[in-house]
Amino acid sequence: MTTRLPLHPIEDWVEDRFAEKGYRMTAQTRSLVRVLGQYPSRPLSVATIKQEMKLLASRVDTTTVYRILERLYAVKAIHRVDEGFILCSAPYNITQQHHFLVCDECGEVSEIFLDYQADIQRQLARDRGFLLRDVDITFRGTCDACARASSTEQPTEAAPRRGLLASMFSFF
Ligand SMILES: [Zn+2]
Ligand SMILES: [Zn+2]
Repeated sequence: MTTRLPLHPIEDWVEDRFAEKGYRMTAQTRSLVRVLGQYPSRPLSVATIKQEMKLLASRVDTTTVYRILERLYAVKAIHRVDEGFILCSAPYNITQQHHFLVCDECGEVSEIFLDYQADIQRQLARDRGFLLRDVDITFRGTCDACARASSTEQPTEAAPRRGLLASMFSFF
């Protein structure tokens, strides 16, 4: 049910999507994509993005950062998690739903891909006459590394967490 896909060089992908939308692929856009690419497991605030872009010698104002983020969001190249922005690790994957696992202990954010929307779509349409457009879920818990670190201290504690995803979706 879950798939881990390899990281993908996203700049060319973004350029193609921008061309389709008639957006210009500017040096600032490339620089912003590179900045987000440096932090694959950490959503960045607008202020941090701006600061990091300066380090890449890209002079940019806040309005421009927002405009570029808006466009990247429109082509689904980025996600918004916990008030920050993060590069999508597989934007070409349009057949599965993209969600994030957020670790409460270390703050690591990782993207997961799930197949269930067709089932929910059918169920909601059948039972409620509801037309599903999008699903917005963030999973919060303890990442594998943190769970293993704490399970060496308390061996019995980490066990129930492993089946979380499976049990959440088993009723569909
Ligand atoms: Zn994604
Ligand atoms: Zn963790």
